[in-house]
Amino acid sequence: MPAVDRVLQMPAVQALGAQYGHTAVVHAIRSLFSEMRQAMLDGIALPAEALQAPSLARRLQARLEAAMQASLRRVFNLTGTVLHTNLGRALLPAAAVDAVQAVMTQPCNLEYDLAPGERGDRDSHVEALLAELTGAEAATVVNNNAAAVLLVLATLAARKEVIVSRGELIEIGGSFRIPAIMAHAGCRLREVGTTNRTHLADFEQAIGVRSAMLMKVHTSNYVIQGFTAAVPEQELAALAHARGLPFVVDLGSGTLVDLSQYGLPQEPTPQETLAHGADIVTFSGDKLLGGPQAGIIVGRAELVKKIKRNHLKRALRVDKMTLAALEAVLRLYRQPEKLAQHLPTLRLLTRPAADIESLCRRIEPAVAQAVSNVAHVSVVPCHSQIGSGALPVELLPSTALALAPLKRGRGEGTALKRLANAFRALPVPVIGTIADGALKFDLRCLENEREFVEQLARLRLDASRSES
Ligand SMILES: *Cc1c(COP(=O)(O)O)cnc(C)c1O
Repeated sequence: MPAVDRVLQMPAVQALGAQYGHTAVVHAIRSLFSEMRQAMLDGIALPAEALQAPSLARRLQARLEAAMQASLRRVFNLTGTVLHTNLGRALLPAAAVDAVQAVMTQPCNLEYDLAPGERGDRDSHVEALLAELTGAEAATVVNNNAAAVLLVLATLAARKEVIVSRGELIEIGGSFRIPAIMAHAGCRLREVGTTNRTHLADFEQAIGVRSAMLMKVHTSNYVIQGFTAAVPEQELAALAHARGLPFVVDLGSGTLVDLSQYGLPQEPTPQETLAHGADIVTFSGDKLLGGPQAGIIVGRAELVKKIKRNHLKRALRVDKMTLAALEAVLRLYRQPEKLAQHLPTLRLLTRPAADIESLCRRIEPAVAQAVSNVAHVSVVPCHSQIGSGALPVELLPSTALALAPLKRGRGEGTALKRLANAFRALPVPVIGTIADGALKFDLRCLENEREFVEQLARLRLDASRSES
């Protein structure tokens, strides 16, 4: 190995120093050399030119570029799942981004009441809006809906029993399980009914001196079909109130507008659930609402007051970025006529099928050309999903590009994986799905057509390439 100082003197490496800085270049040289040394110890021979200036400079540049790359990056979500939890769920409207930028770069009245010039409450920036939009008396906001459920249970049911139907003991994304949340909140789960059928009498019989509340959980990510029965919210509310208990509903997604007006499947709204007599309703900020990650708690003033006073609230509170974004998104709901235009989630969900199809036809030739040596491209009908547990069985008609490897039979699976890897290795990674022997790109969420097409030139598909 040459000395680090000698490598630093090479003109090509000095150019890297000017671009990335001395410290980063020294770090890159040391880590490259240590890998080379290890390779030699493992008996792997280095090519003759590996230690020469052009090769070294190229490998150092690749390393430095990779190190500059942020880990959290934007991608093209062409999975067909609009609210994809792994891809960041809801996209924020421009108004929310501006609001976040303003409070991040300037001081703001986060907990300061401007009129009297006194200390204020951070919830105040969204509480009145939430009350106006949902019809609730009061509201508060925490980090996410899982936190909202935890906080509600810990405040209203610690050391007591929470009565829930067996058909609603859900698990969401592996880490949110109703029974586990109950245990963490210090309450006892009292399951009633059966998986498919639960009746009012099941709840009635379970109520006793240790009962703290009746709870209903939206079965977001699955459906029970066939011989089923669930108790309507109005009846549960009436029963709870007759026995002096609160009725709490975890709505999961919770949308503030009637989605059927947009031709989308209906989802319960917090306003309906409150009107049915629920005392507390919780829902997510970044699912159908289309806002930032948050857990929204709305309901009766006296209960919300208790919830806010719980010390856990301090640990679960949201920051100013979230509040700024949430306030801006909620304001858009005051203009429901323009919602589908301004709120990205709704805009993508309501994107006309004909637009998606013509987009597919428009860019199909460019994609076909870019992959012509390894795959055949066709335009195929498909179904998008809302995602994030909303309406799991309702699918939205859409159109996809299907990239099928030319190689058939043996090696086809590997070819498909390689194709998907190449798209994920693009400057803005492209994420699709693999199904029916093809890599599929549902174009519902492709809004930046030009950028997508332009970066196809950077696609590296040579099958036998080995990485340096
Ligand atoms: C998604 C969901 C949650 C969790 O919400 P997060 O905002 O992801 O924490 C809880 N309950 C239900 C019913 C859900 O659908």
